Amino acid sequence: MSQYESEISRRRTFAIISHPDAGKTTLTEKFLLYGGAIAQAGVVKGKKNTRAATSDWMEIEKQRGISVTSSVMQFQYEGFCINILDTPGHQDFSEDTYRTLMAADSAVMVIDAAKGVEAQTRKLFKVCVMRDIPIFTFINKMDREARDPFELCEEIEHELGIDTYAVNWPIGCGKDFKGVYDRAKKEIIHFTSNGGSKAATATQVALGDPNLDALIGKVLHSQLTDDVELLDGASCDFDMDRVRHGKLSPVFFGSALTNFGVEPFLESFLRMTTPPLPRTAGGQVIDSMDDDFSAFVFKIQANMNKAHRDRIAFMRVVSGRFDADREVYHVQGGKKLRLSRPQQLMAAEREIIEEAFAGDIMGVFDPGIFSIGDTLCAPGKKFQFDPIPTFAPEHFQRVRSRDTMKRKQFLKGMEQIAQEGAIQIFKTPYSGMEEVIVGVVGTLQFDVLEYRMRSEYNVELYVEGLPYEYLRWIRTEDGESVREDDLILGTDVKLVEDYKGNQLLLFASQWSINWTAERNKNLTLFEFGGGA
Ligand code: GDP
Repeated sequence: MSQYESEISRRRTFAIISHPDAGKTTLTEKFLLYGGAIAQAGVVKGKKNTRAATSDWMEIEKQRGISVTSSVMQFQYEGFCINILDTPGHQDFSEDTYRTLMAADSAVMVIDAAKGVEAQTRKLFKVCVMRDIPIFTFINKMDREARDPFELCEEIEHELGIDTYAVNWPIGCGKDFKGVYDRAKKEIIHFTSNGGSKAATATQVALGDPNLDALIGKVLHSQLTDDVELLDGASCDFDMDRVRHGKLSPVFFGSALTNFGVEPFLESFLRMTTPPLPRTAGGQVIDSMDDDFSAFVFKIQANMNKAHRDRIAFMRVVSGRFDADREVYHVQGGKKLRLSRPQQLMAAEREIIEEAFAGDIMGVFDPGIFSIGDTLCAPGKKFQFDPIPTFAPEHFQRVRSRDTMKRKQFLKGMEQIAQEGAIQIFKTPYSGMEEVIVGVVGTLQFDVLEYRMRSEYNVELYVEGLPYEYLRWIRTEDGESVREDDLILGTDVKLVEDYKGNQLLLFASQWSINWTAERNKNLTLFEFGGGA
């Protein structure tokens, strides 16, 4: 294998998904700690600060300048070069969060052992499933009182619709969390409480061995024996092929806070997950090992000050090697260019890079030329990666300019901000151009919109909340567009159009979606819109 090939094949690029507070940050931090990328826990992000209330958020963004926060981190561990993509929670949750998953080759789903599957996990999970990428489950906080592990696995299977395979099994929980049982090796990894350092002893003791009583106690020993018997009898076989296609999720138990089970998880995960996956461009498959460089833009982070053209575009390198000295071809812009200030994040530090390989994520300074989904490739090539889907917004507002004389600026601003991908805009058929319906994935985007319209376009907005929470793109059997009169709609449904002329329906409830689908058999409803 050439050095080039080995660089690519040692790369692992994954996203961590979870509901806020399940322990994503703590787990990420422990990974970095093992990788030697940070010297102590607690430096991954000034998290408590960035989680301030909405009103403080603008101020924080301003202070940060072009903040890349810790959305991407790279570190080395046992020969692997690991890229972690963070998916922010709470108010930071936005369409970017979903798009970040487009850049990952697998996902680690962190679940709180006391809470099980939660709302945000469910949302992010759906996007992973759409991509058929491997999904690994880390059931965290076993050092606290936890729900029954069988019940947790069942909940994942039932609620998320993915089979599970427990790679290890917890021995006790809370104060009695003694360690995990590695099912393949048939050994106990026994944790000794020593203040969260990485030490844990693996003891090869067969189940039923009387020595085990001394190690974990009679009661837990007998329970483990029963559990393992039940597991071996009931669960499906471990099938690597199904794991690779996102049909079977390997499950691990542990405690990120005390380090128990973190390293065994990291090791198994790295062994099971994939090297950089190919991406498609039209009918063409672009493999990571292809000689030529290629990448696509999956996220643009705009600065929050007036010079909003000062932005960073995040791209995922799909194939080959990026060389900072060489020009690349920006397909959508139709231009050769040199990427400006390419950078990567190593834990808390940003650093300018000279090269990057397939699998890596880099942020480049964007003078306002890139859009979400854009392709960069070697000069002479012209393919375009398949577009990143548009994700259905979950919050809607009706928006117009307070000053009717500013209609032009209003529309220009709305359209430009929508082009950047921070919001989606819609119009009702036959309505004038005075008002726009805005849809967002996370409500923080509404505040960002008002702020930017005021500061960049000098337009004060008049906003009105709308009761809709769901959106579906629609298609009729004959592909023709429809009028409201052609459909049987309840009073809580609204027909709108996006700015490309695609028709959509807004709904106030899931129930209403089902009702509408049943009564309008000629319609097909889509949750993700094709095209960027
Ligand atoms: P995130 O929102 O998913 O990034 O969650 P954090 O990593 O910030 O964790 C949320 C809270 O749970 C923090 O107070 C952590 O100290 C705590 N926490 C994280 N992992 C564990 C764990 O394994 N056990 C216990 N007891 N607490 C944990």
